[in-house]
Parts: sequence; structure tokens; C-alpha cells
Amino acid sequence: MLQIANLSKTYPNGVRALSDVNLDISNGMFGLLGPNGAGKSSLMRTIATLQDADSGTITFNGMDVSKNKQELRKVLGYLPQEFGVYPKVSAEEMLHYIARLKGVSNDNERKELVKALLEQVNLYNHRNKSLGGYSGGMKQRFGIAQALIGNPKLIIVDEPTAGLDPAERLRFNNLLSEIGENIIVILSTHIVEDVNELCNDMAIIAGGKVVQRGNPEELVLGLQNRIWIKKVRKEEVAFYQAEYKMVLAKLSGGMMMVYINSETDPGNGFVANKPTLEDIYFSNIS
Ligand code: ADP
Repeated sequence: MLQIANLSKTYPNGVRALSDVNLDISNGMFGLLGPNGAGKSSLMRTIATLQDADSGTITFNGMDVSKNKQELRKVLGYLPQEFGVYPKVSAEEMLHYIARLKGVSNDNERKELVKALLEQVNLYNHRNKSLGGYSGGMKQRFGIAQALIGNPKLIIVDEPTAGLDPAERLRFNNLLSEIGENIIVILSTHIVEDVNELCNDMAIIAGGKVVQRGNPEELVLGLQNRIWIKKVRKEEVAFYQAEYKMVLAKLSGGMMMVYINSETDPGNGFVANKPTLEDIYFSNIS
């Protein structure tokens, strides 16, 4: 169990990136969803012991993380947002290197481990290729392989699918979903669909604050019979924004589809729409 209590962080330039964040996270896939600049990476780096908060605590299975950084690092697998690779080294060599750093000193054991990891992330056939020649999706899958070394109990992946094409994204998400349910996996992302597909628990963070928290399906149920849509012209959007509780407006065949939240039938050409996690997201970040 990971417990984050009253965590706050202000950078030297005055930006308050985290503001009294409280989150209890249990085993399974946890989605941390928020727009760019919300504070996701700041929170991920703090949990990963790469930076300190100004106040508050993070506890992992009862252990105060800020006072036991080395202990936490032993059970942590981390895939940072900017995951640099040594371009001239092959995936196999790099995994051997990292495994040795993480203490897998027995040659045979390490060989078995590296082979199993390469197979798990579907890179075994590309194991001798240098990492510089890997596609975005392959790099991210390699990133997961290195994060899995050492049987981590806590895995943090920070915006892993941001630069991937749809097929690579699907492949990456399938891989993430196969990682054990008996560990905590925190997926930080601005992509609502990733959380929808993968996570059984989530929080929305905006402006450094947790603004929503819960099981994605239950959160969406809370909007049952409340979302109404209407196709309008672009220049009409401002009117609807002023008149209704607008959730979002998005392009649809050159027109704008306006989504509003209303307990009762708003009439005026609106039709009922099944709520989605996107409605939850946009209801909370604006
Ligand atoms: P996210 O990962 O959700 O995009 P970040 O945690 O990266 O959010 O950033 C939160 C806020 O803190 C942003 O306004 C960002 O510009 C600022 N920020 C992040 N890192 C630093 C830093 N090292 N120094 C100053 N400001 C920072």
C-alpha cells in the first residue's frame, strides 16, 4: 500500500506543482490522469525518490519513503517520461548491464532473466539491434523490460504512450495490463483512453491538486442520464457555454459536438448521451 499524505511542492521559480496531495494506492493498475502541467511528473519523481517534497509524507507498506530512499529504490521499477537510451548499445547488452547494476550477479541467472524479459516485451527477435534504431514503441517496451528487473513491488510509468502511434500504443497497453496484479503500477498520463482501458482505480490531478478520485466505472456511473449532446456550428459554441453547464465541445465532421451536464432534459435539440470517462475528465479539469 502506497500512502501519500499532505504532499506539497513549490519549485524555486514559485510554481506550486503539488498542493496538499492525498492518495492511498493499493495493488493493481492506478491511473493518474491530468493535463500537461498538472503536476503528474512532479508527483511521480517524488514517489520515485528523485526529488523531495516541501512537506507531507509518502509511506510504502508502512515505510517512510523520504527516510528510506535506498529501500524504496530496491522495490521500484521506473519508466520516466524522458527515457534516454544509449543508442549504440543493443537491448540485450543494456539489460545485462542494468541487471548487473541491480545486483543480479550470477551469469546464468542473469542470462535467463534477460531472455525472459526480452520475450515478455516481445523484443527477443530484435535483441541484437542497437537501441538507437528502435521505434518509439520498441523503446517504450524496452523501458518496461528494464523497469521489471529486480521483481519490483511498485512500478511507475510516466506518460508512456504519448509519442506512440495507435498500434504501438495498443501493444504497449497490452503489455502493461499483463504485469502482475499483486504489485502497484502507477500509470501517469494525459490520455483518458489509457486509463479507461487499463486502470481499476484512478485520480485526476489538475493545478497540483487531486480533483477526482475513484474507480473509473463508478465515476462514470455518477454521470448516468446527465450528459446531453448537440451538434452546433463553431460560432454557436460560446452561446452554449454561457447558457449551459458545458463539459466539452469537440469537432465532429467539421461541426462542433457540444456536451453538457444537466439533471433534466434540456430540450432545445439536445439528445441524451451515454457518459464516458472523457466526460468525467473534462468536468474536472476546467
Ligand atoms: P505534468 O507531468 O502533469 O505535465 P509537471 O509535474 O511536469 O506536470 O509540472 C507541474 C508544474 O511544475 C508545471 O507548471 C511545470 O512547468 C512546473 N515544473 C516542473 N518541473 C519544474 C522544475 N524543475 N522547475 C520549475 N518548475 C517546474
